[in-house]
Amino acid sequence: MSTVTESKFVGTSRKVTPHITQNEALSFEKSSPGKKAYKLPPLDVPEVDPSALLGDTLRSHNAQLPELSEIEIIRHFTRLSTWNYAIDLGMYPLGSCTMKYNPRVNEFVSRLEGIAEAHPYQPESLSQGALQVMDTLRQCLLEITGMDAITLQPAAGAHGEFTGILLIRAYHESRGNARKHVIVPDSAHGTNPATAAVCGYEVVNLKSNADGGIDVEALAQIVNEDTAALMLTNPSTIGVFENQVHKIAEILHAKGALLYMDGANMNALVGKTRPGDFGADVMHLNLHKTFSTPHGGGGPGSGPVACKKILEPFLPTPVVARNAEGRLYLDYNRPQSVGRVRMFYGNFGMFVRALAYILANGPDGLRQTTEDAVLNANYLRAKLEDLYELPYKTPSMHEVVFSDKRQTRNGVKTGDIAKRLIDYGFHPYTVSFPLIVPGALMIEPTESESREELDLFVDAMRQIAREADENPELILNAPHSTRVSRLDETTAARKPILRWRPPAPDATATTEP
Ligand SMILES: *Cc1c(COP(=O)(O)O)cnc(C)c1O
Repeated sequence: MSTVTESKFVGTSRKVTPHITQNEALSFEKSSPGKKAYKLPPLDVPEVDPSALLGDTLRSHNAQLPELSEIEIIRHFTRLSTWNYAIDLGMYPLGSCTMKYNPRVNEFVSRLEGIAEAHPYQPESLSQGALQVMDTLRQCLLEITGMDAITLQPAAGAHGEFTGILLIRAYHESRGNARKHVIVPDSAHGTNPATAAVCGYEVVNLKSNADGGIDVEALAQIVNEDTAALMLTNPSTIGVFENQVHKIAEILHAKGALLYMDGANMNALVGKTRPGDFGADVMHLNLHKTFSTPHGGGGPGSGPVACKKILEPFLPTPVVARNAEGRLYLDYNRPQSVGRVRMFYGNFGMFVRALAYILANGPDGLRQTTEDAVLNANYLRAKLEDLYELPYKTPSMHEVVFSDKRQTRNGVKTGDIAKRLIDYGFHPYTVSFPLIVPGALMIEPTESESREELDLFVDAMRQIAREADENPELILNAPHSTRVSRLDETTAARKPILRWRPPAPDATATTEP
């Protein structure tokens, strides 16, 4: 394994440290009776029989919690945290996901007492600060997108898509006809066709042209009075700006159809161009991608939906508004609204983080961020395109998509290269997506990375390309440096075991599923 020892990974190797291996037993298994991680002062009030207080609700058998000392617990959780990969450990080039760094100032602000402990049932008079956060974020996002109105309610990108297509449906219905289908390009994120279908539309697939963009002539052929909308990702999922977007909007609008923009890739556009100016009628943003709020592990997301005036009446209730005296309030009086799409007002902590990020950067900082994200992707492209196949030569924006065409000659596929990358201390890129590129390697470095980190990544990718020629077995069995290596991915996805289950205490008791 000389290659691994030469790599960046050595310093952070988790596999070879012996005390970690010895201590791998889970806290439940290490439990021994009587151990405690706390010490309470002597009881100075009369002792009460718990069943007198709790009656039937008192638990009848032991909860089977592990009994451990404080340091055993600390080590258990700290050790678990080192089995994972995080943006705080190194580059996370997961294309389409914009895994950028979350600046600590965002976390600091979101934890301020008045913000973190605000209650959604607080009266409006005591919530003016929280409403101001929402209103300021709203204004910033409208300025960034060039749209007229926005809801902050949706809790993820896919949820934003759902909300956006509901707005489109409500708009068409208000004109007497919901229409029948939504056009989705073949390069789209899987959530796009799913959204259209969930909203009751038939999905019409549109094949990409030779540059990976929208085939404008083919589009003109299929748009008709049954078309509710086209869902367009711009820049597209292969990181290419759709330079015919004005024309695309015109074709749709001429038939009364609308342009939905999947704005998950706004990291390539912020401060440079605005979807509202290039013809989009409605779009979602992923605060947890572009605006640097934590992302991944199913954590709280936020997918605000911005739209043009024509769709504003249909936005979910409530929306933040300002009354005649200049006070902010939540407006529920919206007779044409599609209704609520989430409890309360959205993931408020994400609003705070996104606003902190936007205000800390300012307009120039955001523009610089976009430029750096595009520069970093193009730097990687230039440093790797001699070794990895570049299926689309169109200029890249914030991400670059290679294919494994040259490496498959030695039986090495994109998933193998991604697993080998783990040995070099990087999170894998996005594997086998978009589907229009067979064997895709989709790489998005984001603006967070320094030249030094990018160079380490380039070295790793170049080394792996060499290994694919000289010793493909090494890649096919990777990763070699992690606690577990190749997993049965189908079983892991279909029958995940998400927590440790204690053995049944006796024959009658069973563990939860
Ligand atoms: C991430 C992403 C989505 C979905 O966003 P979630 O927050 O994961 O639901 C939709 N479209 C594109 C292009 C994306 O990259």
